[in-house]
Amino acid sequence: MTQIIKYQLNESDMPRQWYNIVADMPNKPAPALHPGTGQPAGPQDFAPLFPMNLIEQEVSTQRWIDIPEPVLAIYAQWRPSPLYRARRFEQALGTPAKIYFKYEGVSPSGSHKTNTAVAQAYYNKLAGTKRITTETGAGQWGSALSYACNIFGIPLKVYMVKVSFEQKPYRKNMMQIYGAEVVPSPTNATNAGRAILAQDPNSMGSLGIAISEAVEDAAPREDTKYTLGSVLNHVLLHQTIIGLEAQKQFKMAGDYPDVVIGCCGGGSNFAGIASPFLADKFAGKQVRLVGVEPTACPTLTKGHFHYDFGDAVCTTPLMPMYTLGHDFAPAGIHAGGLRYHGMAPIISQLKKDNLIEAYAYNQIECFQDAITFARAEGIIPAPESSHAIRHVVVEAQRAKEEGKERVILFNLSGHGHFDMSAYDKYLAGAIEDVPLPQSSLDASWEKIKGLPKVA
Ligand SMILES: *Cc1c(COP(=O)(O)O)cnc(C)c1O
Repeated sequence: MTQIIKYQLNESDMPRQWYNIVADMPNKPAPALHPGTGQPAGPQDFAPLFPMNLIEQEVSTQRWIDIPEPVLAIYAQWRPSPLYRARRFEQALGTPAKIYFKYEGVSPSGSHKTNTAVAQAYYNKLAGTKRITTETGAGQWGSALSYACNIFGIPLKVYMVKVSFEQKPYRKNMMQIYGAEVVPSPTNATNAGRAILAQDPNSMGSLGIAISEAVEDAAPREDTKYTLGSVLNHVLLHQTIIGLEAQKQFKMAGDYPDVVIGCCGGGSNFAGIASPFLADKFAGKQVRLVGVEPTACPTLTKGHFHYDFGDAVCTTPLMPMYTLGHDFAPAGIHAGGLRYHGMAPIISQLKKDNLIEAYAYNQIECFQDAITFARAEGIIPAPESSHAIRHVVVEAQRAKEEGKERVILFNLSGHGHFDMSAYDKYLAGAIEDVPLPQSSLDASWEKIKGLPKVA
């Protein structure tokens, strides 16, 4: 053996507990608020949407939470996921930095989302849920949940953001293969969808709108629950297996990261890789955590830390988070999974407390770096993940300028095999960086200014 390229744990080394960062946060996220009363929302307020076992995880402050055996058994299909040392990428960049990446594209649906999809389907099955609704942006969450619901025999209806439904027909097919029903959102079948279409008949949808539709479908029905692929505490919890494995793999490598990087849509894959390293940071270790978002939807870098609705038509509890305003409509960039107006309350609080950093990049520079990465490492990244890669390149170049070795870890949250139409456009020079005028940010902020401030 010459140089080691991948650090692969055995199945028996898989972490058997998730890490709940809330237990160790110096300031806990503020509670969600009931949209009617403005009072802290209790478990009962979430009960129409989620089974009680997941609500318990949502509000838990217990540091370690056991991963159920049936979930571990399904995880074993693709976990532990490999940690790679990206030696050819380092060479291509001519950097003294050591670049490692955790590859979540090995999951059956091709992204990290499968980690929480399996857990959520399992807990719903246990609670007797007969039907599930959800939204999907780029289609990654919808396909992960379709895979998981199929395993547990739960019928699933997916509201898919229309721009992605049209850009990514094969994601739709993937969900159908796993047995789910998929509709383009906004639809005419819900009040939320009809309200949006009345304003804009050509609406290409947004995650916020699709969430409204899936929630409206589930809330009044006894037999139906709703699931979310990001943002909520229990979703971030399920993703921590990524960082926990990475820590074990870094031990194998005899190394430790100076900086841990992940792209941020709702914040779950970033939280998944970053949280266990943040625990080290809380214990005094030097490590930087960096979330990366698109300039077209700059929630952490240009949003406000404020209470806001999680959906577009104001039906969810108010969440304490960085937000661009619930009716902010991001440009139709190709990283569909990063087009969400808010950020997970956990990630938002960590940013507010300066425990993490955030940067935003344009999509063209992200595609460029994704292609450099693909040519070096062979893996074609999801456009979402390419945002993390963009910042890896920035860190690697800085290391070069400073002549310093620097250990970089990033989460390659998914592969881009279903994003070929985006790459096709990029290769044809037909992708644009859409400017985001301050006036548009101001307009959506105006609409939420009157909502409660986070104390
Ligand atoms: C959904 C998705 C994201 C963004 O969601 P987070 O909750 O922020 O992780 C990032 N990468 C991929 C591949 C995705 O599918």
